[in-house]
Amino acid sequence: MKSGHISMQTENMFPIIKKFLYSDNEIFLRELVSNAVDATKKLQTLVSIGKADCELGDLTIEIKTDKEAKTLTISDHGIGMTADEVEKYINNVAFSGASEFLEKYKGVDAASLIGHFGLGFYSSFMVADKVEILTLSYQKDAKAARWTCDGSTEFTIEETEKPERGTDIILHLADDALEFLEEQRILNMLKKYCKFLPVPIRFGDEKKWEKPEGAEKEVEVEQPRIINNINPLWKRNPSELKDEDYNEFYRELYPYSFEQPLFYIHINIDYPFNLTGVLAFPKVKQQVDIQKNKIQLYCNQVYITDQLEGIVPEFLMLLHGVIDSPDIPLNVSRSYLQSDANVKKIAAHITKKVADKLEDMFKNNREDFEKKWDDIKVFMQYGVLTDEKFSERAQNFLLLKNTDGKYFTIDEYRNQIETLQTNKDGNVVALYATNPEEQYAPIQTAKARGYDVLCMDSVLDMHFVNYLEQKLEKCSFTRVDADVMDKLIVKEEVLPSKLSKSEEETLKNLFEEIADKTKFTVQLENLSNDDVPVLITQPEFMRRWADMQKMAATNSFMNNDMLHYNLVINTNHDLIANLLAETNDEKRKEKTAQLFDLAKLSHQMLAGEALDKFVKRCFDIL
Ligand code: ADP
Repeated sequence: MKSGHISMQTENMFPIIKKFLYSDNEIFLRELVSNAVDATKKLQTLVSIGKADCELGDLTIEIKTDKEAKTLTISDHGIGMTADEVEKYINNVAFSGASEFLEKYKGVDAASLIGHFGLGFYSSFMVADKVEILTLSYQKDAKAARWTCDGSTEFTIEETEKPERGTDIILHLADDALEFLEEQRILNMLKKYCKFLPVPIRFGDEKKWEKPEGAEKEVEVEQPRIINNINPLWKRNPSELKDEDYNEFYRELYPYSFEQPLFYIHINIDYPFNLTGVLAFPKVKQQVDIQKNKIQLYCNQVYITDQLEGIVPEFLMLLHGVIDSPDIPLNVSRSYLQSDANVKKIAAHITKKVADKLEDMFKNNREDFEKKWDDIKVFMQYGVLTDEKFSERAQNFLLLKNTDGKYFTIDEYRNQIETLQTNKDGNVVALYATNPEEQYAPIQTAKARGYDVLCMDSVLDMHFVNYLEQKLEKCSFTRVDADVMDKLIVKEEVLPSKLSKSEEETLKNLFEEIADKTKFTVQLENLSNDDVPVLITQPEFMRRWADMQKMAATNSFMNNDMLHYNLVINTNHDLIANLLAETNDEKRKEKTAQLFDLAKLSHQMLAGEALDKFVKRCFDIL
């Protein structure tokens, strides 16, 4: 037996590893299984190029727990190590400037650091107070070696017997890490980190129902429980994959998700960096939900993280799926990642791929693209609002939908409405409804005049309207009930009033008497007899301001009581003439109230006592 001293730059590395990294100690398993995979892959390579002459045999990596001995063992049938190699690779901890590193990142949130900090084999000391390595190299006549270390810088190494080629890493778990003897705990960790590793990984057995050949009934059989899919979909050739394969992969990735994505983007880049992946487009709901089914980042099929802030643009985080790249530097902190030039390039490239795919879909099958539009609209809008590059690309396939359910690109829409909806200042006025149901009446009025009304009813539409106004020259957006239609889009000929000056005065007084001055401004307009006699409008700027306040949800000093409306009286309507002709004072007041209430009713402003009074008055009139 030989004993010696592990050479490290920092004398007391182990306690540091243990304490500093404790909060995320489960990554030890990822590191050890990754090492086992590497060792197996190395052997496969050597055999394939004729540099090793041995039977590969069953290469399954096995994880075992022993509750009595309090050990967790990771066994592989890979390349193995000779005693010399153990000394060379294990005893010289490959921390270049580790102490410096820890010093530098002292204040940094440990959890954000560790995931990317390739601790390798020594991370086992986060959970074990003694580690054994039992290993037999693939080389002819190699002798098996046993290395042990109790977490100090002292180790022993000796010759031993090991019948099979490969390496067993035996962790003698520390008292505060006995949770890693629990089957479910290990299973969850393996499912998280090792689900797509390229070598089969076995953890115990599982029971499955199977129908043996010739048998009538299914029988329960016990078989090795293999954790991983060694050939994940994103590594495969898209040309040989069908929609169903993607859907199945999606279920594999997010077993608790019931909804199927709308479509997928298969990414395969090998220059200027290496990146593969599959992104899935979910239906994006009104409530933007980024928390669920997050994109997972892998490095050579090893799960790294689903915290992708700073790695992919924010709007892409609405997507689901997998990104796998050996070129994302994983052994550094998040703040470093965000400023890394490589990472920036990767982010830009993913954005480009997503835009390419959307543009393709739009060009190749517009009908289908339109069908999907309502479900990807929020994603698209989020993208153009937050990402300059995406916004540039999206101009050609960003759609607007009108209240008849027709879709237009921005250019198409402008052409569509330019002739009829240009006001006297030469501005194109686009009309929109935020709630086609509630704004039914003004939408009909607009349509009757030949105008088009857009449907802007999703969470981001308000921001999107601002965005379009900034982007488009000489174009403004106005909600369809913001003002009298003829004012919004000034017509050449405005109708004359049928009333005399004194009649107008009387009319104004009648309504001012019953309408709360602080809330309503009475306004006389010469509309046509086909229009309504009385209507309520709300200036666009006022409504937008109120909406913004609501969105910001601050302790707004503005409440509903402060909102101001216009009460518009159509001087040319027969009912108004009728009202003026009424000589009975009582009756006239009653009619005025009735007209006012009807206007309120169609603006969803009648409730409670006022509504009750209105209904009673209706009965009386009948
Ligand atoms: P890294 O994997 O980043 O090189 P580690 O500390 O995890 O760092 O491992 C150091 C070295 O020990 C590896 O490069 C490899 O040569 C060797 N090694 C670790 N685990 C195994 C194993 N299961 N089989 C064979 N060699 C191994």
